[in-house]
Amino acid sequence: MENVYIVRCGESALKGKNKPYFERMLVQRIKKNLKEFEGVAVERIDGLIFVRTPESAPPEDVLKKASRVFGVDSISPAIEIPIAGMEAEDAVKLIGERAVSYMLQQIESRGVRTFKVDGRRADKSFAIQSPDISRKVGAAVLKGCKVLKVDVHEPDVCLYVNVRRGFAYLYERKISGYGGLPLGSNGKGLVLLSGGIDSPVAMFLMAHRGMNVEAVHFHSYPYTSERAFEKVKDLAGILTDYCGRIRMFSINLLPIQEQIVSNCPEEETTILVRRFMMRIAERIAKREGDLMLITGESLGQVASQTAASLVVTDAAVSLPVMRPLIAMDKTQIMDIARDIGTFETSILPFEDCCTVFLPKHPVTQPKLDRIEASEARLDVEKLVQAAVDSAELTIISQREA
Ligand code: ATP
Ligand code: MG
Repeated sequence: MENVYIVRCGESALKGKNKPYFERMLVQRIKKNLKEFEGVAVERIDGLIFVRTPESAPPEDVLKKASRVFGVDSISPAIEIPIAGMEAEDAVKLIGERAVSYMLQQIESRGVRTFKVDGRRADKSFAIQSPDISRKVGAAVLKGCKVLKVDVHEPDVCLYVNVRRGFAYLYERKISGYGGLPLGSNGKGLVLLSGGIDSPVAMFLMAHRGMNVEAVHFHSYPYTSERAFEKVKDLAGILTDYCGRIRMFSINLLPIQEQIVSNCPEEETTILVRRFMMRIAERIAKREGDLMLITGESLGQVASQTAASLVVTDAAVSLPVMRPLIAMDKTQIMDIARDIGTFETSILPFEDCCTVFLPKHPVTQPKLDRIEASEARLDVEKLVQAAVDSAELTIISQREA
């Protein structure tokens, strides 16, 4: 026996001539996300994607993993009824029988008392029309389940019947996916990933639009601990459900921070550090073929995220810097973090490299010429190249459920 799931794809299905390309990509992504369950088959038929798993694969795990594939709008566990070669009347009778046994189970396990049937024929050659499918299956259920009543407005169960070529499907639940576009359909970008709440959400959002993402993380070991680094790896691990395998470069920023602290005005420390982060990230991005840098910055959140600070930060690099959270409030960002499952890990209290040499009164309106004058006291090129050369690569593999 196997379990069957119907997957609906949203926007990716609307992309005109590219539709087959997007759908093929989506099928590949679903297969990848479910690869821990052996014997999974995924195929697309007439605009829907059908997933078959062995019965041993726990449905809740399959649903969770599949719903985290970008491009998936919703997914339903379904009962598949073969009807090829049957007369329509006989097919509907068979569907009615299966509906009765399904509803008897629901009465038993959940105390269901009301229902309605929503029938559709996707196969227009099927001789019974949609409203009649609903009526006939509904009548069968009423006859077979004496305690049930029809409620068309607020039923305990809305039973969907979908008649397609060769098969009919019965399903009830629709689990929402995240929509978006299949991963890999929109280039590759490099996320500056801290252990905080924001940057994992930024990573999620860019991947949600189809961008392959990799990460660079800065630490200040031994000022920041091994456990702080573990936390970032845990966050990346959670994100693999959405982003697939993640390559993460880690770099010790301490040598640069020490140079800045000894040679530059204290209140400029943060903005100077941020410009170095950008330069290092950009050099890695160019080497790795990343088209953009991505950060979790949000306008006005802290001193280094005022409009003036962001302008000065951007002036250090030529690659586009994407800030998907720029106009969001912290509460909105936190809601997304909770929804995608990163929040609880993000709030664990470990030190970040940015907090190591935090100035008491950071500049909030930095002037580019003054910042550049401060940087003239440092050998920027040499420091950046040394940092890039010291980068260590960690591969974060996809988690199992
Ligand atoms: P987050 O929750 O992402 O840590 P934040 O509000 O703490 O954000 P900052 O610490 O000012 O903000 O950092 C702004 C952005 O800079 C982060 O969203 C992230 O993209 C990047 N960043 C900060 N610290 C690091 C780090 N240690 N390694 C890599 N990127 C970082
Ligand atoms: Mg941070």
